[in-house]
Formats: sequence, C-alpha cells, structure tokens
Amino acid sequence: MKRNFLGALGIAGLLLLCAGAPAGCAGDGPGAGGGDDDGLIDAGGGGGDAGTLLTITSPTPGQIFTRDKAVTAGFAAPIQFTASASAGVASVEWVAEDVFSLGVAEAPDFALMADFKGDGDRFVVAHALAADGRDLGTARIDFVVKAMPGQTGTCHEMLNALGVSYVLGPNNKGVADPVTVNTPINGIAYYAYGAATPQSKMFMDCKLALALQKLGDVLRPRGVTAIEHIGIYNYRCIGGGDPDSGTCTPSQHAYAKGIDLHEFRVGATTYNTQTDFVIDPDTMPTCTATTSNDKDKWLHEVACLMHTQKVFNIILTPNFNADHRNHYHVDLTAGSDYINAIDPGAIGVDPPHGSHAH
Ligand SMILES: [Zn+2]
Repeated sequence: MKRNFLGALGIAGLLLLCAGAPAGCAGDGPGAGGGDDDGLIDAGGGGGDAGTLLTITSPTPGQIFTRDKAVTAGFAAPIQFTASASAGVASVEWVAEDVFSLGVAEAPDFALMADFKGDGDRFVVAHALAADGRDLGTARIDFVVKAMPGQTGTCHEMLNALGVSYVLGPNNKGVADPVTVNTPINGIAYYAYGAATPQSKMFMDCKLALALQKLGDVLRPRGVTAIEHIGIYNYRCIGGGDPDSGTCTPSQHAYAKGIDLHEFRVGATTYNTQTDFVIDPDTMPTCTATTSNDKDKWLHEVACLMHTQKVFNIILTPNFNADHRNHYHVDLTAGSDYINAIDPGAIGVDPPHGSHAH
C-alpha cells in the first residue's frame, strides 16, 4: 500500500482521503476490527510461530485524549506512541486508521508524537519493519479523541488559545468578524509601506489574523523578523469600483481577508518582491521555475511555502500581472480554503491569468 505522509491529521483530510480508500475508513467504529484491539501482533495468518513481535506500550487500549493543544487549524490531541519489539524489528511505521502514515520511528521504543484533530473512535496500526524494510507484521491500538468541554472552535477562541493579542472591532463595512490585532504577530513585525517604524496594531478579519499567526510559524524558521506590506482593508472591487454598486466583484481586501506583502526582512537582509523577484516566463509555473539568484530563489520558495503549508487560499506573485509587480497578494478567497482543509479545488499559486486579481 502506498501511504501518504501527514504530520498531523485533520477531519477534513481524513474524509477526503478516505473517499478513495474505503477499506481503511468505512469501519473505524467500535468493534469493526473484530476486537483486535489488544495492541499485540497480528501477522495476518493467525498464530505465527515467532511469538509476539510487537507490543504497543502507548497509548493504552481505549485511552481517552482531549483536544487541548491549539494549532492554527483547530484544537488537536497530541498523542505519544511507543512500542516494544523482538530483535529483528528495526523500525516501526505508525499508520492512522491504517491509511495515513504518521512517520517511521526507530528502536528501542519506536517513539512518535502525532496531533489528532478528528473526534471519535480512532485507531493506529503499527507496522514492524525489518532493516531491509520488509513488513514483518502489525499491531493495532484503539483509542478515543474528544473535544474539550465548551470548545466551539470559533475564530476568537482560536486566537485566544494561540495567544494572539487583539480587541474586537471596529465594525467597518464589509468585514464579517472585525478584530484589531496588536503586532508583532507570532514574532513578525509589520511595517506599513515606506514607514520607518513598525505598526503597533492592524485591522483585519479574524480569519486573516489566524492566517498571519500561521504565517509566523512558516516564516520564523527561515529567520523572518519583519514584513513590509501595502495594505489589508480597502472597501473596493477587484480592479476598482464600489462593492455596493452590485456591478463588480468585491476584492478580498473589502472583507479585510487579504494582504499585499511587499518585502520580507531577515534581520538586516531584505527580500523585496519588486526589486529581487525575477519574473518567470509564462511557460514556467512559479514553484518549478528556474530562479536567477539567491534572493529570487528565496522569494520563490516563500511564495510556494505559503501555498504548500496552506497559509492562504490564493497567492498572486509578480508573475501574475503588472498590477502585482511590487507585492505578493495573498488572501482567503472562499471556496478554496487552504486553512482547514485539503481542498483539491484550491487555487494557490499561479491561477489562470484573468481569473483572480487583488
Ligand atoms: Zn492585494
């Protein structure tokens, strides 16, 4: 079986992938596995001659976990998996619902942590692997994941749990869930275009605040300390015009769910979309284009990282059109939601020209 590696599991991801893999998904209710929940080896043949190869030592059968860890896409239950095994077992691959690989862990205790976001009866199958990668047999452990009492998963609740500092409002036209966020956000300072000092607060929709919190998770490992941007809220249509006229399509900026990222700063080093990003030929998608120099390469990688890490639903680069020569427009266009779901319809980097604009 070819397995997909996922560092963390979400409900949406499970449902999507399960649609194409009914064997691992249809019967994950209690007892569906025929009572094979003792954490002991099941080599498939029934009564193998080598004795117990693999015993899952954590979690314990039926253990209940509460989703008490805030992650950007919701609350997760962090679960520690460990096992003991006979000599000859070099590593263990942990596979949620025997469909999604959580990763491979080495002897002696084959320990692995994974975040679970889907509630209900869950199970993980441990595959004992020989040094040459042969699957020697499996063990299964069943457990339960539950929401925290009172947990609703609202955007405000998520901001609170993630430690984002904000106040509600003001109630500007077009903005469904207005918040004013104190910056920096998740370690990133924000400068208005051309300003010498960073902003102390920024107005946006709560969902964009969640996305910028996640952006910090993605950019801080690359050393980013500050971003210069060209704006968030602007009550207007794509390409101009009044959203209230009913004759044009409102921009995501009208909803305060988009931001134009001009320059990324790593300490004193700047990566500027206008001066450092080299526009690629139309035949080259942004994420596989040949880059021209180190800064150009870095900027391409960051654009594509925002896509692969599902920070924003849409990312437009200077490749898109002349209106985007000096920024990355990123937004949360509905119907292509990269924040909570693995959406095959998501647009991401390089939408067809003319299909979207800021
Ligand atoms: Zn924009």
